[in-house]
Amino acid sequence: MPGIEGGCLCEAVRYEAARKPTGVTMCHCTYCQRATGAAYMVQPAFAAADFRLIKGDPKRFTHISAGSGMEIQVGFCEACGTKLFQTFERFEGAVGVFSGTLDDPGWLEIQPQNSKHIFLETARSETLIPADTPVFMQHALSKDGQPIAPIILKTPQKAGDLQSVFLRSRGK
Ligand SMILES: [Zn+2]
Ligand SMILES: [Zn+2]
Repeated sequence: MPGIEGGCLCEAVRYEAARKPTGVTMCHCTYCQRATGAAYMVQPAFAAADFRLIKGDPKRFTHISAGSGMEIQVGFCEACGTKLFQTFERFEGAVGVFSGTLDDPGWLEIQPQNSKHIFLETARSETLIPADTPVFMQHALSKDGQPIAPIILKTPQKAGDLQSVFLRSRGK
């Protein structure tokens, strides 16, 4: 099955993604922690052309990104409060999905080759970060869109240990 469906808790809003995501971002920023109510967001990104609503009419909440000052539009179910997806002024043409709303969690394959962990500087200290996967203390791109060199771990490490190594390397 190339595609997948997903939806909110009360099933008033349903969506479909036609094919696998272009990548998966595990984001540990404070926005993602608050938006998910969890330690971090697991966010597959789909091309907008591959994502469509098949039932219901989600409400939109506009969040202004603290980093870029640009808009993030969050789609959520008015009846049950589940957040389902978001679109970005900064990354036009991409739809990020709150992965917990996918009907089959096993459909989403997360490998070092298609994923990254970002905003490690605000991660919960006990969160285990996997080996071989690109890791970034903040964004993977600079504000003008240039790629930032990732950290690649040889063995899994706790986010708190990475944070202290990073702060030492900056002389703090
Ligand atoms: Zn709902
Ligand atoms: Zn985030």
